[in-house]
Amino acid sequence: MKIDILTIFPDFFSGPLDYGIVRRAREMGLVEISIHDLRAFTKDKHRTVDDRPFGGGEGMVLKPEPIFECLESLGNVASRDVRLSSSAQQSVILLSAQGRRLDQALASELSALSQTDNGRIVLICGRYEGVDERISEHLADREISIGDYVLSGGELGAAVILDTVTRLIPGAVGNQNSTRQESFTGLAGEGARATLAEGPCSTCVSGGLLDYPHYTRPADFRGMVVPEVLMNGNHDQIRNWRRKTALAKTLRNRPDLLAGAVLTAEDQELLDEIKLTQTGQAPSPHEI
Ligand code: SAH
Repeated sequence: MKIDILTIFPDFFSGPLDYGIVRRAREMGLVEISIHDLRAFTKDKHRTVDDRPFGGGEGMVLKPEPIFECLESLGNVASRDVRLSSSAQQSVILLSAQGRRLDQALASELSALSQTDNGRIVLICGRYEGVDERISEHLADREISIGDYVLSGGELGAAVILDTVTRLIPGAVGNQNSTRQESFTGLAGEGARATLAEGPCSTCVSGGLLDYPHYTRPADFRGMVVPEVLMNGNHDQIRNWRRKTALAKTLRNRPDLLAGAVLTAEDQELLDEIKLTQTGQAPSPHEI
């Protein structure tokens, strides 16, 4: 899988590429990440990448020429039509507050490109008031936003996408079960039930819920103790507790996710058992 990032601030990425899973995936050759400086594709002595907006108004807009020329210099990027077709193996993405909002399903869709012969993602980072719209209309095949807020540039968004996509490439995370079973990750129907029946694993299946709470040693830290159930070795009880706390946490922090989650009859019972506190909040792990 190749990931290319087009930016006017190439040095921005020295941090995000050099730690943890992303670093390891690069070292293992699972992903090849290249950063391209848009200013290298300007022709004037001031290396100008931006200009004033047609029609007037605030701020500056990133010019189309350096972005088109930078993309064309990469070689082996499929045409926009091919990238928009059902046989797409590549995606050229414009980071934009107006884009489709990134979620785990989209990250997984992008990561699946790594399983194709020519898997490649190109991330175009905007700045200032944004990017000339012709990039979105004629060069990129999609716009992605990392959330409903405005950033000062696409670089942080590109780093977020590259992180979440890379960790889903098979082999990038030591234990593949852990990426299949974490927060937001849906496992439909039988798959969910089968995994639920397996008993405690490092992370019991999410089925679209938030992850359950994790604890490690010491069992008593300054009087803050780990829930007793996790230390008694009863796998059924642990499994039950994890599922119930995941349900409670989802109810407390992201009730919107419950509508799309894969819930078994047992989950429904657990949800019914979760008694809201007097302030209408779902209980903490210690109250379960
Ligand atoms: N005028 C634009 C914001 C421009 S911010 C608007 O109101 O929508 C400058 C650049 O930051 C954008 O071109 C985009 O590349 C990036 N950016 C800002 N918010 C973002 C978000 N939520 N997700 C991804 N990229 C974002």
